[in-house]
Amino acid sequence: CGIVGYVGKSKSLEVLIGGLRRLEYRGYDSAGVAVIDDEGALGTSKKAGKLVMLTDELKRHPINDGRTGIGHTRWATHGGPNDDNAHPHLGDDGRLALIHNGIIENFAPLKDELLAEGYTFSSETDTEVAAVLLGREYRASGDLQQAFRSVVARLDGAFTLLALHRDEPGLVVGARRNSPLVIGLGDGENFLGSDVAAFVEYTRRAVAIGQDQIVAITPDLVSVTDFDGNPVDVEAFEVAWDA
Ligand code: GLU
Repeated sequence: CGIVGYVGKSKSLEVLIGGLRRLEYRGYDSAGVAVIDDEGALGTSKKAGKLVMLTDELKRHPINDGRTGIGHTRWATHGGPNDDNAHPHLGDDGRLALIHNGIIENFAPLKDELLAEGYTFSSETDTEVAAVLLGREYRASGDLQQAFRSVVARLDGAFTLLALHRDEPGLVVGARRNSPLVIGLGDGENFLGSDVAAFVEYTRRAVAIGQDQIVAITPDLVSVTDFDGNPVDVEAFEVAWDA
């Protein structure tokens, strides 16, 4: 039910956990994070329950912190609220992590297609289908934004999706349809959130992503396109002080 993404100069875990904490008011049943560390390895941690379950897990089994990360709080729609179904979900080769708010209405036929190709799943979620599809498409193009375009063209329903790939450190890509996503513009760092509350502690300059758009953030650049890859003009706004 909450989404946060970060790329920049700071270590990301504190930004991600802080952002998820400010999104807690929306309600959720599980939480998780994925981070690319400074050596380029991808670490994930996820737990059913309140955010404190995740922060306790991170104390017991730390993951390496890094400067590219995504965080998620889940409100289960497909698959019960347990650790396996919590996000992030990985591509089949474990090289990418994806988080999702919303419902992928046509996940069942997509899952059948992937099962027939020999892919396996470790959760009951609609979301993992998008993660596995993204991994397949990434191998075809070697480009996370191109892979996103291929995936969203196959999805029906409501989604805010964010993903990172260990072969593209310093990049977080997102997409949205019928579900919100906002960029937070920083100085040498950029943020994504399902809501400005996710990053308002760090920046008040924001850009709302429009319907059926894909966004890519690096520490210094923000790009927004439609689902076909055509650039979209964006306009920044200042988040009101009391947001
Ligand atoms: N449909 C997804 C799931 O059940 C995402 C739910 C959400 O919006 O948090 O895992």
